[in-house]
Amino acid sequence: MAKIYRDVDASLEPLKGKTIAVIGYGIQGRAQALNLRDSGLNVILGLRRGGKSWDQAVAEGFRVFEIGQAVAKADVVMVLIPDMEQPKVWEEQIEPNLKPGTVVDFAHGFNIHFGLIKPPPNVDVVMVAPKGPGRAVREEYLSGRGVPALVAVYQNYSGRAMEYALAIAKGIGATRAGVIETTFAEETETDLIGEQTVLVGGLMELIKKGFETLVELGYQPEVAYFEVLNEAKLIMDLIWQRGIYGMLNGVSDTAKYGGLTVGPKIIDESVKQRMREAAARVRSGEFAKEWVTEYNRGGPTLRKLMEEVKNHQIEKVGIEMRRLLFGQ
Ligand code: NDP
Ligand code: MG
Ligand code: MG
Repeated sequence: MAKIYRDVDASLEPLKGKTIAVIGYGIQGRAQALNLRDSGLNVILGLRRGGKSWDQAVAEGFRVFEIGQAVAKADVVMVLIPDMEQPKVWEEQIEPNLKPGTVVDFAHGFNIHFGLIKPPPNVDVVMVAPKGPGRAVREEYLSGRGVPALVAVYQNYSGRAMEYALAIAKGIGATRAGVIETTFAEETETDLIGEQTVLVGGLMELIKKGFETLVELGYQPEVAYFEVLNEAKLIMDLIWQRGIYGMLNGVSDTAKYGGLTVGPKIIDESVKQRMREAAARVRSGEFAKEWVTEYNRGGPTLRKLMEEVKNHQIEKVGIEMRRLLFGQ
């Protein structure tokens, strides 16, 4: 059974009187910085001068410094800039300014786990990874709730690293919802495997292939769109609220019987075999290497693939259908 921490299991005490430097004021940086400040902690920002975050953070009442300066002042450094930008900023601005004993916090394990950031031995390295978008992190906090998170310790120099991680999790409101203990490896690998095989990759292809099948058989694209894309949300909501069994009990007997007998023929063992292959590429670091190379080349493959999706018939129909549905 996973170890789960609630609000009563965590204390803000380890962070009292400490200076927390949040590096980055984007999706996570802004939400986490505001929540920590509202939790009564001392937060400063480390940003690049001239970027658009700088003015916003100042306008929202923070003391803002260049990244190196903020790190030098900090007892806790939260690295909340995009993952692919982190290694260079780490090497040039963060690492040279770290004091021994600093607590370094990440919101995703990618760079540490794949060795793209190699922290010195005399700091704590922890992770507090909210399992939700930054906007929810802020909104839930303001309404007295929180977004659940994963916490992990990679390096425990102080001997108190988990206490610091839990204090950060409490400060951003995550312990109100519940925090699960994990490792950098588990968080990083499950995140990548999950998004590739199920969430982003799997769902998108399932919907596209279902749409193509219907349209190629001569059914109207608008009808196909409603069937395989629009309704996917309604089924997902049922699964989310009630589980898979509960979803099945919420659809017709015909849908139940058809789904249960045909589903495993569509998503069969061969799909699972390819999921294992994708997982193996993540676990070996091969995927990370490929993505870092692609990013540093300016993302030409990503741009091309995005363009292809944009031009898919389901997107053209979708624009019309969503206008109808939501007046977008
Ligand atoms: P964002 O893209 O929102 O980060 C933008 C911020 O980073 C801005 O303040 C920007 O400054 C700054 N920045 C970007 N590049 C640089 C650079 N080269 N040098 C200095 N500052 C830079 O990031 P996210 O919040 O999405 O991600 C941050 C971390 O949180 C990542 O590790 C991510 O995996 C993790 N995470 C994100 C989630 C999400 O909801 N997005 C969910 C869970 C985890 P400027 O304004 O100057 O450009
Ligand atoms: Mg994820
Ligand atoms: Mg991810």
